[in-house]
Amino acid sequence: MVSLGLEDKVIVVTGGNRGIGKAIVNLLLDLGAKVAYTDIVISDDDGKALAVEADVTSLESMQAAAQMITEKLGPVYGVVANAGITRDNFFTKLTDADWDAVINVNLKGVKNTIQPFIEGMYEQNGGSIVAISSISGDRGNAGQANYAATKAAVIGIVKSLARECARYGVRANAIAPGFINTEMTQAIPDKVRDKITAEIPFRRFGEPQDIAWAVAYLLSPVASSYVSGEVLRVNGAHHT
Ligand code: NDP
Repeated sequence: MVSLGLEDKVIVVTGGNRGIGKAIVNLLLDLGAKVAYTDIVISDDDGKALAVEADVTSLESMQAAAQMITEKLGPVYGVVANAGITRDNFFTKLTDADWDAVINVNLKGVKNTIQPFIEGMYEQNGGSIVAISSISGDRGNAGQANYAATKAAVIGIVKSLARECARYGVRANAIAPGFINTEMTQAIPDKVRDKITAEIPFRRFGEPQDIAWAVAYLLSPVASSYVSGEVLRVNGAHHT
């Protein structure tokens, strides 16, 4: 019998209330981890994980969440920066409000998520950080200049952190999902969806579970102990 070694590890997932975040929370629970998740509003708490209302755009809010999670569950081993939003528009129509909203959640939010936990991980001399990037950050996407900029930036964050954290036994990686069936992609009009699907060699969108397994691999001190600063693409061969 082999294990990913996540039993009793304390792992925090942002944006865990629905979509990919919820699939990550549920898989980590199944793998025996002690899971905490954050969201602005918790609407679906079944009590299996520690649910904490916190906004990734506020460092103070994430610091308070980190304190509560550490007090209740113990030192944190893994952080999954998953919360993200889109505010799509063609570049000529992109407003400052939509630019700022996406930067605040997807970029500053990743910084605000990792910062309150990282010194605790250094003190334990071990840990794993996983940030959710996107195929849009990897290859760009019309109408998503703001979103793609943040998702490319996330790759810069983990590559830098990988170098900075290695001496403390902490790893940092990103996952770049392709198109995944969640509320985020339900907004795509049918015609556009059909066009995207035709471009994907697997001829379908992925499922949240596909990303959850990739997260579990990158968190695992057994399966990925020599992997850091990497970008794992999970996209049905929908490469650049
Ligand atoms: P969803 O829109 O389904 O879920 C996003 C979650 O993030 C929600 O629970 C949302 O909370 C939460 N959230 C939003 N803003 C904040 C905030 N300020 N603080 C805390 N939580 C917040 O998205 P997905 O599950 O599809 O996406 C998850 C991640 O994967 C995102 O980073 C996304 O960019 C990325 N991704 C998704 C792809 C896809 O095809 N679905 C493809 C590539 C990457 P609330 O319920 O309150 O809105």
